[in-house]
Amino acid sequence: MATVNAESFIGQEKKGFRRGVLFERSWLSLQKARGPIRHSSVQVQAMTERPASEARIYILGGNASTLAFVSSLRPENRQITAWLAPLAWTPVGVVVGEGWQRVNIAADNVPGWVDQTFSPEDDRAFVSSLRDLEMLIRVGWHSEAPVSLTEDLVLNPEDLPEDVLDALAHPEEQLTQCAVCRRTCVRDHFVWNERRLCAWDYHATVFGKRGPWQAKPYEERYFETLPTAKYVAHGLLEDVKVDAILVLDDIEETLSRSIINQVMEAEPASAHLAVRTERGMTLLRERSAEPRP
Ligand SMILES: [Zn+2]
Repeated sequence: MATVNAESFIGQEKKGFRRGVLFERSWLSLQKARGPIRHSSVQVQAMTERPASEARIYILGGNASTLAFVSSLRPENRQITAWLAPLAWTPVGVVVGEGWQRVNIAADNVPGWVDQTFSPEDDRAFVSSLRDLEMLIRVGWHSEAPVSLTEDLVLNPEDLPEDVLDALAHPEEQLTQCAVCRRTCVRDHFVWNERRLCAWDYHATVFGKRGPWQAKPYEERYFETLPTAKYVAHGLLEDVKVDAILVLDDIEETLSRSIINQVMEAEPASAHLAVRTERGMTLLRERSAEPRP
């Protein structure tokens, strides 16, 4: 069978081919022309069998702070539109930020742009398969622009590092810069004295030596002013020599207060600090200089 090149299919689309059908057929003919294809291309092909009206994205590459993607590789005024989504690294994984930045890339230099933007010298940089990208450019791949980033929209999940792919399973968050270290962090997860902090600086500040440690059980009114955090990252407590000794998730408020105060009463020699978290309260205890009996 004679193979038909992508350009001729693109020409026919103008005469009324449906987009999904068009791509599938041009893909298959290219595939025949190129011989065996590797695993990721099969996935790209499978994804294009979905209805043409749905949004799809192709990840171009990324690094510690940015994820770049396109939803169309059809040039307009000889330019391709790409989107840059911000990323924040937290102790519980990577978070994708709201508010994407739009960039225009010269249509004849998309692989060059990817290579330059996500340089191999950057440890955390990754790039998509150049071969798939060139193929999609050649067939003029196009889909609806997405309104949010989710894994099921991604044509090339195999090109993403695991932790970045995991980030797509969670809702986007508003990101900001940490008031102390300027690292990108989630805007409202760790706020202390009206300053938005990254998890690392929050744990170091609030649970550090100068944090609001208590020698005695809490008076009722103090429970209203406890530090609040999205979560306590147990891995970060080691640096401040603190233990999380009690996690009260989904427990009624009065009962939680009573349990916390009973523990504090029973350990008068230790300093304690209760934190409100998304799901309840966590009681921390400062490690004493001498080993516990
Ligand atoms: Zn910070």
